[in-house]
Amino acid sequence: MSKILIVAEHLDGKLNPSTARCVSCAQAIDGAEIHVAVLSDSPDAVAAEAAKIDGVAKVLAVANAANAHPVAQVLAPQVAKLAEGYSHVFGPSTTFGKDLMPCVAALLGVAQVSDIMAVESSHVFKRPIYAGNAIITVEAPSSMTVVATVRTASWPQAGEGGSASVEPTSVTATLPEHTRFVELKQGKSDRPDLQGAAKVISGGRAMGSPDAFKIIYSLADKMGAAVGASRAAVDAGYVPNELQVGQTGKIIAPDLYVAIGISGAIQHLTGIKDAGTIVAINKDPEAPIFEIADIGLVGDLFQIVPELEKAL
Ligand code: FAD
Repeated sequence: MSKILIVAEHLDGKLNPSTARCVSCAQAIDGAEIHVAVLSDSPDAVAAEAAKIDGVAKVLAVANAANAHPVAQVLAPQVAKLAEGYSHVFGPSTTFGKDLMPCVAALLGVAQVSDIMAVESSHVFKRPIYAGNAIITVEAPSSMTVVATVRTASWPQAGEGGSASVEPTSVTATLPEHTRFVELKQGKSDRPDLQGAAKVISGGRAMGSPDAFKIIYSLADKMGAAVGASRAAVDAGYVPNELQVGQTGKIIAPDLYVAIGISGAIQHLTGIKDAGTIVAINKDPEAPIFEIADIGLVGDLFQIVPELEKAL
């Protein structure tokens, strides 16, 4: 039987929804027993949240002052130690998981399975390649621990009816001294988090300037949406890097995605493949974004967006 350990992602005492998405993926493996590990300086609140996720049998709460900040090199030796007795160790395919899980895989001497989007069996998975243009089936050796990242956009959040036991767990692992936390610089915003938002409004190169991007923020605020951007808009300096959606940005799956002045390059589309309804506003009726949009508005965004906001 598969015994799966999921490494919880959390920040400021709150569990990230990516963890419940990893649980859904783990549940796709028949008969799996699912545990969640919370590594923190004070894991209790996050562990209590994790214990409520449907399908979780046990939460391991690992308290250690060294875990006050999620530094991959510090967490990895502890996760590798915890992995003993588990057939699988999963983390989300987010910035957190993409940083941590390769370190865990290296310490366990296995090749990581990346970006699981579907489960065929306990050791056979599907994942996207070539910016989502092709899907590959990968098989991990059954004799080794499977260390994998889960493509969170491909999995729904597991429900909240669980009541798993929380087990304070101590881990004896040698932590590195070569890597230490210095400071965290993060953008402060009252808007929903781009990766978890139900609605996302994105602007592209057509915005033309950081100032013009204000109409995107304004529309997003009116709709309670998160703001995203194409790489061209980020590279041009209209918005910060963390708003980039796509292959080299964030992979998202909102219920509603509105692409404004974005042409629809494949590298952008790979980031919104799992979105629900896609709305595109573009002045070029031949723009590739219209091939995948559910609703298309052909016209000048500087006219349409203010009108749309007014109508809302
Ligand atoms: P453009 O392609 O220039 O499109 C602008 C659109 O705005 C056009 O369709 C135009 O008709 C429309 N427009 C112009 N003026 C108006 C107006 N007034 N009203 C309405 N519409 C208007 N891109 C990403 O987005 N995310 C990624 O993660 C990413 N990763 C990449 C990785 C690699 C390895 C490579 C090679 C590229 C990557 N790119 C990525 C870049 C990608 O190929 C495109 O260059 C980029 O997505 C284009 O951004 P855009 O649609 O905003 O700009």
